[in-house]
Amino acid sequence: MTSKKDIAIIGGGAVGPLLLAYISNEAERQSATLNGVTFHLIDPKGFGNGGIAYGKCNSQHVLNSVIQEMAPFRENAFLDFLKSSRIPANQEEFYSRSLYKKFIKKDLVDRSIKVLECHGARFEEHKVAARIQQTKNGRFNVLNPCSGPISLALCGLSNEDIILTVGYGPNNRFTPFKNQSGFVHSIYDTRGELSLIERETKLQNPSNRIAVIGSGPGLYDVVNELPHPFREFFVFSGSGKGLGVRDLKLEKNEQSLPPQRLLSLGKDSKLTEVVSALKQEFTIAANGRSKRRIGLDIQKNIKQILMQLDKGVAEAFRQSSEYAPIKHIATPVPQKSKQKLDTFSPHFVKARLENDQIKKQLDGSYLINTGDNQYEVDVVINATGHGRHNSSIIQSLKKQGLAQVNPITNALETDETEYRLKSSGISVIGPATHVGTDGMESFACYTERCAKALVRQINSNLNFNRDRDFRAAI
Ligand SMILES: Cc1cc2nc3c(=O)[nH]c(=O)nc-3n(C[C@H](O)[C@H](O)[C@H](O)COP(=O)(O)OP(=O)(O)OC[C@H]3O[C@@H](n4cnc5c(N)ncnc54)[C@H](O)[C@@H]3O)c2cc1C
Repeated sequence: MTSKKDIAIIGGGAVGPLLLAYISNEAERQSATLNGVTFHLIDPKGFGNGGIAYGKCNSQHVLNSVIQEMAPFRENAFLDFLKSSRIPANQEEFYSRSLYKKFIKKDLVDRSIKVLECHGARFEEHKVAARIQQTKNGRFNVLNPCSGPISLALCGLSNEDIILTVGYGPNNRFTPFKNQSGFVHSIYDTRGELSLIERETKLQNPSNRIAVIGSGPGLYDVVNELPHPFREFFVFSGSGKGLGVRDLKLEKNEQSLPPQRLLSLGKDSKLTEVVSALKQEFTIAANGRSKRRIGLDIQKNIKQILMQLDKGVAEAFRQSSEYAPIKHIATPVPQKSKQKLDTFSPHFVKARLENDQIKKQLDGSYLINTGDNQYEVDVVINATGHGRHNSSIIQSLKKQGLAQVNPITNALETDETEYRLKSSGISVIGPATHVGTDGMESFACYTERCAKALVRQINSNLNFNRDRDFRAAI
């Protein structure tokens, strides 16, 4: 009898490859023997496709992070990749996201596979969109979208054998306008790699009037991609302003500090006290630290902050106009993205738009009514981001009662690991279970924790099985 184990990693955008890199690190560190282990890498677009952030991007889309922040699993990995690709490496440069996709495939996927193969592991790649179904005896089958099993080896798995890194789901705002001409519902092409102007030909004409909904990072991707300014360029958002510029000089030598005032709040704290503590974090803690760093430190601790508040206060705070900008403060943009936006002479309008404020007119233009004013435009671009747990595989887990949304955090409910679902024990790492900013660095600690536990568990199970097989044989 040979010991055998099959592990399904579902989702090969950015976090799936990051997980693979951490697993290979762990295999090296624990000198693991992985004979009999098969990793099934599952993604309809191929494992290491870069996903929403790095896979579908135009060459003008830039990272909002610098070199050392983009390879949490191995110091200088991205720097070494640049050097080996003969690309001049500058620690203060914001490289293109399409370049990072190449790094993901080469370093996180191909390199990790080679290392793990040396430890005895096997790999099977499945280019399908997976589904998970719980069996009567509490095990799990990983199925293809139609219904059949992807592979017999992926039937009857335990919750520990499945890790989901499926990223964001589709944007569910402004769905009535989806597929209407003149309305770009999603700024990243979901079917292929078409640019914005290939998908919406009205964007080829500079005399058209444009409305972008959302002033977060998506707005800067839009302007970085568009080839020319327009007659009018409106930006509608709840904050009514754009993102700050990332100033690397300000960040030099600054330390991460926990947001003490927010962390000291409790179940009896009122909303006014929470808002006041938030303001204090910026005034008192500001001492020599950039706003970005303070925002990041708040985001890093936001789950704990929310969970220790009264449920009603936490929900009210999460939806308050004071909390909303914190994520944006934590993610300022490179100077060159801000400069590109300025060439469009944007007119910012403070309005959080809903469906009924937008009307398509008979001539194909759109009328946007904010209550105070009306704006007529030829093209509307929805740049409001993505659904955190709207992907079909997560929706199906929710339907089967295998995943639940926590109303306080608006993320999937997890146990103390912060990535294993409370209701099913299946691991989900990425925006669906995360609260805070969604950068590569923010997912790193869960990915590393998961990789450590996985390799430890594989090693002990295989050793146990080998002992058992050996005893059975004698
Ligand atoms: C526009 C944008 C720019 C960003 N820029 C930066 C940056 O500069 N620096 C930084 O640190 N962070 C950045 N981030 C944040 C971060 O890197 C992303 O959150 C990260 O890419 C998320 O990766 P992911 O693997 O979880 O999801 P995704 O990248 O969305 O990948 C998910 C993968 O899962 C697959 N999948 C989905 N459903 C299934 C299924 N049922 N079966 C099989 N496969 C499935 C998809 O095909 C996809 O390949 C950015 C995010 C966005 C959206």
